[in-house]
Amino acid sequence: MKTMKEKILAKENLAPFLDELLKTYRVVAPVRSGDYSLYRTLEHGRDICLDYLRPMKSAKEVFFPQNETLFYFNKRTNMVVESPECEKTTVLFGITPCDLAGIAAQDRIFASGTFKDSYYMRRRSLSILIGIACPIPGETCFCHIFGIDRFASEIADLFFIPLQGRYLVRVNTEQGGKLVEYLQEATEADVREAERLAAQPVESKVEIMPLEELSHLLAEEFESPVWDDIARKCIGCAACTFVCPTCHCFDITDEIRRDIGRRSRTWDGCMFPMFTLHASGHNPRTNATQRIRQRILHKFAYFKDNQGIISCTGCGRCVEVCPVNVDIREVLKYLSKILMEASKK
Ligand code: SF4
Ligand code: SF4
Repeated sequence: MKTMKEKILAKENLAPFLDELLKTYRVVAPVRSGDYSLYRTLEHGRDICLDYLRPMKSAKEVFFPQNETLFYFNKRTNMVVESPECEKTTVLFGITPCDLAGIAAQDRIFASGTFKDSYYMRRRSLSILIGIACPIPGETCFCHIFGIDRFASEIADLFFIPLQGRYLVRVNTEQGGKLVEYLQEATEADVREAERLAAQPVESKVEIMPLEELSHLLAEEFESPVWDDIARKCIGCAACTFVCPTCHCFDITDEIRRDIGRRSRTWDGCMFPMFTLHASGHNPRTNATQRIRQRILHKFAYFKDNQGIISCTGCGRCVEVCPVNVDIREVLKYLSKILMEASKK
């Protein structure tokens, strides 16, 4: 992709760079939390933690919090009495390429089409995204099969590439450029070093059929017994949906105390048995087979049909958190084998 220019920031100057941002913006970045990191609001630049491959939870909660108040209302008058206030512009720093792809998928859900989500839109429009390259993929990562570039992103305003002792900072937007105006320009040698890193091949451990073909053929396997095999271990905890950067389902609830009510929305997940329970008492997805089939078909077939992209970024988080080792890479491999065999008949 074409960048406007490149700058250089010494690694030892990262914390002061973030402190400078904190004078004007809310800054969210990976922060250590026990044995992992999480995207959290920074108090000081020195709190940044880039020691882990990526934060344990995705960046989606910055724009789509796990629980949020939509408004307060008066039960007697049926009027809204208070709406959440506009927040400060947020600089989201240190977003991995898979999480940037996750934000791009969330944008398609909440910020495009006829019905846009005003809560998401407000936060997203007041944001500046700073991505960071991911030179060495982790054990569970498979972003390469989705064509995600680990050294660039179209939606990041700035993109940091770690080099020896310094970062090459790619400037993608004017908004991003203003944050790094005072940094020195990168040299040709810096740019070449970044290009050399980006050119290193990744060994693929996920052998699956071409994604276009997989998406196209999957829906034809709706009635296949293959889903029973895949779902056998699943205990319906929905941890996979909560850590996923692209999952976006939510529930709306009202809590009322005396005359004042609070309407809130909270993440929900298609892997919960009650997720599809209708008010009539009917539940169209009563077992794990139906639920896991929905999750896979939604990500790899329906989302592609409706939004033009597959809603998995290969971040590998669901592989790490599943308590019974359901591994989406194995699921895709297994489905590929079944689909290839079926297409030969
Ligand atoms: S399905 Fe799993 S690997 Fe794919 S984006 Fe979601 S958490 Fe990551
Ligand atoms: S994390 Fe594993 S066990 Fe839990 S719902 Fe997802 S696939 Fe099922």
